[in-house]
Amino acid sequence: MKTILVTGGAGFIGSHLCDYLLAQGHTIICMDNLSTGHLYHIKHLLKHKRFTFINHDVVKPFNIKRGLDQIYHLASRASPIDYQKFPVETALSNSIGTNNVAKLSLKKNATLLFTSTSEAYGEPREHPQKETYWGNVNPVGIRSCYDESKRFGEALLMAYLRSKNADIKIVRIFNTYGPRLRPGDGRVISNFITQALTGKPITIYGDGNQTRSFCYVSDLVKGLVFMMNSRFVGPKNLGNPEEYTVLELAKTILKLTGSESKIIFEKLPVDDPTKRQPDISKARELLSWEPIVGLEEGLNLTIDWFRLLPLIKKNSS
Ligand code: UDP
Repeated sequence: MKTILVTGGAGFIGSHLCDYLLAQGHTIICMDNLSTGHLYHIKHLLKHKRFTFINHDVVKPFNIKRGLDQIYHLASRASPIDYQKFPVETALSNSIGTNNVAKLSLKKNATLLFTSTSEAYGEPREHPQKETYWGNVNPVGIRSCYDESKRFGEALLMAYLRSKNADIKIVRIFNTYGPRLRPGDGRVISNFITQALTGKPITIYGDGNQTRSFCYVSDLVKGLVFMMNSRFVGPKNLGNPEEYTVLELAKTILKLTGSESKIIFEKLPVDDPTKRQPDISKARELLSWEPIVGLEEGLNLTIDWFRLLPLIKKNSS
């Protein structure tokens, strides 16, 4: 059994990853500064004897006394609303934070997996996006604190690999959803479910014809673990290739919740990608991984979780 550091382990994906790795019998050190992560996500783990929580910002220097076998570096704000509110902190988590975990992985002789993003492809001119596509990112736009810092994180780790033979892996995560998405995080699935369950208008930005491909969190977590335990460096795309327009998503959520919320159209944010769909042939072929949870099944599980939140219970229509 391994000792594993998960940065961002109290976040949405990170907390599911901690659950999964603990269930496999590993010892987990979860590091999070609770900026967008929450103790609520890991409260069931806090008394577990193989689980340790460290409240720390990965950008600030740190050391871990114990030996480590693996490091998953997830610490970063990930929702456009969050990272645009804290652009400097976001840029630093993926640059200085990535440098800190890279140095630690060398010191501990541990494998480091970096969670990059589909945002690395920007406004894609290739569709679906293969890992070989270099992307089309606005380097000074409002999303660049995230996109470019993830791209820099990838470049930095490739430099560590080439010059210091570091054991690194890179994945590019596409839109992910599931229980523990924050209702206020501003991303499309949390917004639409919260709006539908509280009878508020569903806010579509633009005309709703932009597309995204949504992966249920349990599928994504398995992809992270398969990649970590593989012999590949990547980058590898991890996501569900089923592609939907935002309007289709809104209608599906209205149907599944039985909500009578009306749909309203608002201004499309600047640099909002018009389409996004992962080509996951590499992950399929090399990791024997593919998502198995379809959109309606995953949304139902997510909606059930949202219904239990005090905020939703109090305001449900
Ligand atoms: N979106 C929307 N209404 C919302 C929130 C988001 O129409 O209330 C759109 C957003 O403009 C984008 C898509 O949904 O085109 C996905 O947005 P999200 O913030 O979830 O993630 P992104 O893929 O843009 O990082």
